[in-house]
Amino acid sequence: MAYEVPPLPYDYNALEPHIDEQTMRLHHDKHHQAYVTQANGALEGTQWADRPVEEVLQNLDSVPEDKRTTVRNNAGGHYNHSLFWEWMGPGGGGQPDGALLQAIESAFGSFGDFQARLKDAGVKRFGSGWAWLVHDGSGLQITSTPNQDNPISSGQTPILGVDVWEHAYYLNYQNRRPDYLDAWWNTVNWPKVSEGFSRAA
Ligand code: MN
Repeated sequence: MAYEVPPLPYDYNALEPHIDEQTMRLHHDKHHQAYVTQANGALEGTQWADRPVEEVLQNLDSVPEDKRTTVRNNAGGHYNHSLFWEWMGPGGGGQPDGALLQAIESAFGSFGDFQARLKDAGVKRFGSGWAWLVHDGSGLQITSTPNQDNPISSGQTPILGVDVWEHAYYLNYQNRRPDYLDAWWNTVNWPKVSEGFSRAA
C-alpha cells in the first residue's frame, strides 16, 4: 500500500507558542505530503512499493540505483516527519523519568548536558537536516544527519529527533535556529519518547 501522511495527533495550534499554527499546517500538510507523494512515485513498480518505510531505509543499497536518491530523500522525509509529529505534543517538555532519564544521565552526565549536546548538534548541522538522540545497540548517542537521512540507515535507532530545516521554524523564528531549538524542548512528548526507548534498549 502506498504511503500516506498520518493525521497530526493534535491540533495544528496545539504547540503554540513554541511552534505556530501556520508552520504546523505547512509542515504537515504540504512538506510531509510532498515527501509521501515523491516516495510513492519512486517506489511504484519496484519490489519495495509495499514494504514498511523502515525496511526501505534499512536497505537503500537494494533500491534500484536510478531511484535510490529520490527514495532516500523522500521515504526518509516521510519516516522522519511521521516520528517527529509523535515526539511532540501539547503540554510537553520537562524531563523524562525512569529508565530513559537514567540512560541519558549515564551517557551525557546530566539531563542539562544532554540538552546542550542535542542543541549543539542541531545548531551546527550546516544547511538542512536533523539532530538526533539515537540508540546504537549499546547505548545512547547524539548525532545529526543531512537532508532527510535517518539514523536507521546507519543501523542506529532514532529515539528523539528535531527537524532543523528552515521550513520547520523560519516563519516564526526566521534565521534564529538556536531560539527555535530552545523553544522546541517545550513540545517534547517524553512519555512517547520513552516508549520508543523501551523498545530499542
Ligand atoms: Mn520538515
